[in-house]
Amino acid sequence: MNSTSVISIKNESLRTNVKFIQSLIGEQTILSAVVKGNAYGHGVSVVVPALESLGVNHFSVYSSFEAKNVLKVKRKNSTVMIMGFIYKEDFDWIIENKIEFFVSDISTLNHAVETAKSLHKKAIIHIDVETGMNRTGLNLKQLKKAIDILNKNTKYLTIQGVTSHFAGAESIANYTRVKKQFSVFKKRIKLLNENGIYPKIRHIASSAATITYPETRLDLVRVGILVYGYWPSKETFIYYINRKKDKTDPLKRAIRWCSEVASVKDVNIGEFIGYGLSYQAQQKTKIMIVPVGYCNGFSRSLSNTGRVIVNGQISPVIGSVNMNMTICDITHIPDVKCGDRVILIGNQGEQEISFASFAEMNQSLNYEILARLPLNIERKLV
Ligand SMILES: *Cc1c(COP(=O)(O)O)cnc(C)c1O
Repeated sequence: MNSTSVISIKNESLRTNVKFIQSLIGEQTILSAVVKGNAYGHGVSVVVPALESLGVNHFSVYSSFEAKNVLKVKRKNSTVMIMGFIYKEDFDWIIENKIEFFVSDISTLNHAVETAKSLHKKAIIHIDVETGMNRTGLNLKQLKKAIDILNKNTKYLTIQGVTSHFAGAESIANYTRVKKQFSVFKKRIKLLNENGIYPKIRHIASSAATITYPETRLDLVRVGILVYGYWPSKETFIYYINRKKDKTDPLKRAIRWCSEVASVKDVNIGEFIGYGLSYQAQQKTKIMIVPVGYCNGFSRSLSNTGRVIVNGQISPVIGSVNMNMTICDITHIPDVKCGDRVILIGNQGEQEISFASFAEMNQSLNYEILARLPLNIERKLV
């Protein structure tokens, strides 16, 4: 073991989640698994091949840098789509390798055309239109300009898709905004069609919209968080489950994060534990040291509030999370010894530390905690 903790990815959970998503979207809609942020912290080199074995062959990433990491491990026939940033020096590489990418501004479009010309190849693009999020995407004026460029350069471009992104489909508070965005999206597609441009794949929905706004699934859905077994928000889960007889969660968490007990010791009543005065023993206390701290992705905000599992029982974090280690209370848990397994995320026996609860304790989102799991933790498929 070259790190003090290990991340296991459960193939069976990925299978359950992929099947669930496919049962929602049917066979006419493509599932693009979003694997940005190192597959939401799960590890691209583990997740991409595992998903391919489950029949997924379309992957979305944020940048050309991330696309390179996917290309290293993907099968020949799988598609990679860049939704965001492209380093200028990567355009040649992208077009050579038939990587698809979003065109969100005119300069990217021009650059794509020039590079394709010089390589005598076609750039495979998705036209990203602004529909109300005001983040990226071509506004109406830019879109009209883009249409000109597109029509003049059909030799160098494959217009594979048209796309946009909802500004918060995971919350009913954004209902009107989402509906309005979808109607703008349809208008922009119409405008493209009227100018002789027919993108093959229309896509706008991510996990939340895939669940909550079925009409927005169109030709492809870009699904991230659901693949890994989490709901985009509590609201999305409640929306889904309210419409079902069976109230069991159809998703399974794919990740398990474990470490081991580094040492065990007794502390007398009245003693302070760890740095400063943040925790004072109220009784004779038994503690264990877990060799994982905030440099390993165990957030400092879990100080005095986080929990882990050892010997099938919950053990609370006491004092502050240090850079490389965390102290936990095991007074109530018999027979804990050095080398015993510690579950940071996942279940053991009856107990589970779910990322949802973890994220709440951490006053953060599932997305952030997952994505911040460091690259250097060993990951394996189980
Ligand atoms: C991250 C991202 C997604 C996936 O979002 P989930 O909520 O994880 O499904 C889809 N589209 C874009 C543009 C994204 O940036």
